[in-house]
Amino acid sequence: MDAPDDRHASERISMNAIQSTQNSRHSLVYGPVKSWRFGSSLGIDPIGEVSICSFNCVYCQLGQIQVHTTERRIFVPTAQIFEDLRSLSPDEKIDVVTLSGSGEPTLALNLDEILAIAKQLTKLPTVVLTNSSLLGDRMVRDALQLADIVSVKLDAISSHQWQRINQPIGTMNLPDILAGIAQFRGEYTGHLAIQTMVLSSWTTEMLEDYIQLVQRLSPDEIQLNIPSRPRALVRQLDARGNNAFESDCGDFRQINCISVDVLNALADAIYFATKIPVRCAPIALS
Ligand code: SF4
Repeated sequence: MDAPDDRHASERISMNAIQSTQNSRHSLVYGPVKSWRFGSSLGIDPIGEVSICSFNCVYCQLGQIQVHTTERRIFVPTAQIFEDLRSLSPDEKIDVVTLSGSGEPTLALNLDEILAIAKQLTKLPTVVLTNSSLLGDRMVRDALQLADIVSVKLDAISSHQWQRINQPIGTMNLPDILAGIAQFRGEYTGHLAIQTMVLSSWTTEMLEDYIQLVQRLSPDEIQLNIPSRPRALVRQLDARGNNAFESDCGDFRQINCISVDVLNALADAIYFATKIPVRCAPIALS
């Protein structure tokens, strides 16, 4: 984990790393990958080869996040993504275009441009998977209006749990994140999903708190998931889009989590109380 105290060192290393990979031409468009939530999903990576995020989640498939920051920047030029999208000739049906990739997509200052060209070139629905950390920023909320579906992360209802699971940068706090989600809900006209990764069994009190919270936030859908693989501890470019990856590093951390049956029971209870559709990997409810 990049502990808050390590942040400045992490950011110093990172800026050099970003500079040194700017000329890299790994495609910024990948897949399509099979998504349990969205079908056949073509991925766009607005971050690039260095993983950059305001969180460092214990289950992150990218491996240890290399740059832990909340600073919005242009990490890859929009023209490069335009080029990669235009040269694409997929031989299979694609349902959606998803912005996720190598970190938190709302950190990309050109998020609005990327969403606009994705729509213009593909004519497909666009999805953004965000960790919710920048929803308090009006520019981010405005850019997300261009997406057809936005899936916002909410893994915890207590600050302690949130710190433990998402390992956010030290300057952030959960009440601000929740306020950002609520503000975005009030403005966003597209399909809003709340995505929750469930690692351990919830007490009755936790379930009640979660139900109250989602009732207040009123998403169009709730997506519950559990980690499907051990976490790689080093950067895994191939893991963009939660893709399966091969690694010769052998450096993994096993993640203990609940069973699919327990997850389904949780989904049932949430749907029963809220009547908000709950999609639960790999079984959909409602
Ligand atoms: S899972 Fe998402 S939010 Fe969490 S560290 Fe990885 S990229 Fe960031």
